[in-house]
Amino acid sequence: MTTSRQKLVIRNIGLILSGRTEKPILEGDCLVAEEGRILAWGAEKDLDIEGADTIVDANEVTLAPGLIDSHVHPVVGDYTPRQQQLNWIDSTLHGGVTTLISAGEVHMPGRPKDLVGLKAQAIAAQRWYENFRPSGMKVHAGAPIIEQGMEETDFKELADAGVKLLGEVGLGSVKDGRTARQMVDWARKYGIQSTIHTGGPSIPGSGLIDADMVLETGTDVIGHINGGHTALPDDQITCLCEKCQSALEIVHNGNERSALLALNTARELDKLGQVILGTDGPAGSGAQPLGILRMVAMLSTFGNVPAEVAFCFATGNTARRRNLDTGIIEAGRSADFVLMDQAQHAPGKTILESVQLGNLPGVGMTIIDGHICSEQSRNTPPAERLPCRLQP
Ligand SMILES: [Zn+2]
Repeated sequence: MTTSRQKLVIRNIGLILSGRTEKPILEGDCLVAEEGRILAWGAEKDLDIEGADTIVDANEVTLAPGLIDSHVHPVVGDYTPRQQQLNWIDSTLHGGVTTLISAGEVHMPGRPKDLVGLKAQAIAAQRWYENFRPSGMKVHAGAPIIEQGMEETDFKELADAGVKLLGEVGLGSVKDGRTARQMVDWARKYGIQSTIHTGGPSIPGSGLIDADMVLETGTDVIGHINGGHTALPDDQITCLCEKCQSALEIVHNGNERSALLALNTARELDKLGQVILGTDGPAGSGAQPLGILRMVAMLSTFGNVPAEVAFCFATGNTARRRNLDTGIIEAGRSADFVLMDQAQHAPGKTILESVQLGNLPGVGMTIIDGHICSEQSRNTPPAERLPCRLQP
């Protein structure tokens, strides 16, 4: 007796982007996933496409790993108190993003800063996004902001409870590199990843983190190396690119000129594999549903990066740096995809050329864990062609 397994077949794909900078484009016109995991891709005639419960006719559009936003500030469900806004996560899904990573739930009104309270909030936030995915979006949250007085046992307790991320170092009362380093080391010892607020204060109450503090603290991710919004002086940004093996995170809600400086420096140093993207929304400058696509187009056009490589910044690079099982077209990884095509009336002969000319693509569908989560985007420009769901 065979048990039926949930099977997805996407056929008639025009172009497959891999998410890997080493080989950003893959051969094939078809992809098969089972039980929410990628099984195989290639020429349809070589694949077993029988018995699918979901069949998508891609209609010749491009398939890429679902985009990852490495830097968001969620609070609860699909609501942000920062801008009193509902459904910003659903809107972001319509921008091709399928995974969000919290850099701290700092916009919670009355956010507790005592140790018991901050740990309780982090654990609760990790749980409520694990238990509830807004519109299907994967939200990795529960990212406590470190405060003075935390001990090694606090990090062990957080890790034991399922917390895997620290919020941005520097947004709490720990403002010196030595203390921050100690806490980041404790976090790392228990498998908790760390990031840091780089640059000037973002809003009243936040502070300056300069390159010396970033270097001394040694987080896994250099959060918004292009500032959020206020960037460090150029020499400090190039110094961070030179000295750090950490992820170099460029965000939408930062300084665009500094973003290009970081990108160009990383390229000169042969460190494009360290570049990852975030929005830093919701924030003072709002939520950015198309922020990741806008960063891909902006960095591709002004940074002279082939579009297929720029998409890797928002997919495979982030997945590798963040130890996520998504972001790359590879057997066994999560079947999280965005299907998109050149926007109607956008210049360029292909979607890649159009993006490299600075245009956004049109999103036609998102898929998470093998399930269709959205169809034609309500937010991007309309695509020339749209994928469609077929009756199996
Ligand atoms: Zn920040």
